[in-house]
Amino acid sequence: MILRKMTKPVQVGSVTIGGGTPIVVQSMTNTDTRDISSTLAQIHTLAEAGCEIVRLAVLDADAAKALKVIAATSPLPVIADIHFDYRLAIQAVEQGIHGLRLNPGNIGARWKVQEVVNAVREQQIPIRIGVNAGSLEKELLEKYGGPTAAGMVESALGHIRLLEDEGYNILKVSLKASSVPLMLEAYRKINEVIDYPLHLGVTEAGTVRSGVVKSAIGIGTLLAEGIGDTIRVSLTGDPVREIPVALEILRVLNLRQRSVELISCPTCGRTQVDLAALAEKVEEQLLLLPPLDRPLKVAVMGCAVNGPGEAREADFGIAGGKGVGLLFRKGEIIARLPEHELLAALLHEIEDYVRGHQKL
Ligand code: SF4
Repeated sequence: MILRKMTKPVQVGSVTIGGGTPIVVQSMTNTDTRDISSTLAQIHTLAEAGCEIVRLAVLDADAAKALKVIAATSPLPVIADIHFDYRLAIQAVEQGIHGLRLNPGNIGARWKVQEVVNAVREQQIPIRIGVNAGSLEKELLEKYGGPTAAGMVESALGHIRLLEDEGYNILKVSLKASSVPLMLEAYRKINEVIDYPLHLGVTEAGTVRSGVVKSAIGIGTLLAEGIGDTIRVSLTGDPVREIPVALEILRVLNLRQRSVELISCPTCGRTQVDLAALAEKVEEQLLLLPPLDRPLKVAVMGCAVNGPGEAREADFGIAGGKGVGLLFRKGEIIARLPEHELLAALLHEIEDYVRGHQKL
């Protein structure tokens, strides 16, 4: 059982982050924010996959203007990601966004910070301070001889202080790096000195192979230590692919059960069905299911030696034989089918259950 750090809860639209609430999955659109219909279409796809909060890059006044329609019609709370320009931050707040990602130390004079705080204060809009090892302040790079965990923590504390000095403390913090050991050290350090919710991520994690490994180790290690309140898995390309990875990290750690646990055997000389192809197709189809609200275990096993045992332990399962297979539901054999009918029959059972048409 993971004992989570109790952080200050922060409200992002309808979603609470921190304070012991379930770990929230978030992502970021890669559409042009000015293109309202493409952006909303991607937000809908993210929501269907299980994303709970979405962040959008706001590069100019037209993008900020587009936020009005996007924030009003998005199925997810919307966070505006803004660098340097305090006017864009104020404009975004006026359009009805639910959160800001902004480093107050990067927007210049004190009065600009005050204006941003005045804008967010009324609606209690949270600000995420996002320190990135790749863009640490020059003085900190010089002081620490490069991007270090101590430098990242000092940077975050500096941004936090600027907002706290203005009496604003509805904050979240992230300390991302592309190096997993560096982000681990930075998050552990800051976790000891602040109670604001932490947004975890490995930045520029890469394409699917390295991104999944880096995120699983970086985010997963911290979550296992009880650190972190919201996560973003970063993968190059379509952000929708990040969501199953995030759900799987949370499921594996028993933090949330919104994705199906798929067990499949490695195959061996006893396998007499095309199990690899079958398991891959099952996995592909399971990813299309809506996020779950309870645990679900599916087993795809190659033979009658270990197969039936595992298949019986699972909620649904297949154990292959010679060109045939047994279909199980909660330990009971419910059908003996030719190989080519196994996939459809298994998926039919699972879908029926997930859509509430049958109970286990
Ligand atoms: Fe081999 Fe059967 Fe084990 Fe699969 S379940 S690895 S086929 S013994």
